[in-house]
Amino acid sequence: MTEPKDKPAVWQGGTVWLTGLPSAGKTTIAVGLAERLRAGGHRVQVLDGDEIRAALSAELGFSKEDRDTNVRRIGYVSGLLAAHGVTVLVPVIAPYAMSREAVRDQHAAQGVPYVEVHVATPVEICADRDVKSLYARQAAGEISGLTGADDPYEAPVAPDLRIHTQDRTVEESVRQVHAVLTERGLS
Ligand code: ADP
Repeated sequence: MTEPKDKPAVWQGGTVWLTGLPSAGKTTIAVGLAERLRAGGHRVQVLDGDEIRAALSAELGFSKEDRDTNVRRIGYVSGLLAAHGVTVLVPVIAPYAMSREAVRDQHAAQGVPYVEVHVATPVEICADRDVKSLYARQAAGEISGLTGADDPYEAPVAPDLRIHTQDRTVEESVRQVHAVLTERGLS
């Protein structure tokens, strides 16, 4: 029996975690990549950091322990979705290496693909972009505990991809991540 020609492709799911400083470009790349993947027939879910915090981690603050709990919760949800064929894009700072490794290990234990992308925009550029005025508010003393300003960010040592957005257009950055997914058989 032959397959119908218009049978939709069934893609394998996976998690793509975009880690980096505030205003590095994580959300912008995730949104562009989502559009591109959906056009190719993928089921895609973007887990926006602010939205998911409000939904799953409203009681948590920004201590190391609370950030770790938040990242692990997001990783858990992402793993569940990815195991069911969804490409999950996670534009979430995730400043601590240990939490990111826990998420990677959890995906490995589930046999679910996991791709770590370091959106490595330098802090000076991020502070200049300041999409949510967080750097300005931190500098004015209105908030504290801002990753990259007065809170730590442990840059990934060996991410699957490192992007320097200051030298690239959004389209080029999206293409770079898409190419890694293609290499991994995820697009
Ligand atoms: P984050 O989600 O990391 O906090 P955003 O994606 O909300 O950051 O904001 C990043 C800003 O940087 C956007 O205004 C975006 O247009 C800009 N930008 C400039 N060049 C790039 C690029 N190559 N990739 C991603 N974002 C870029």
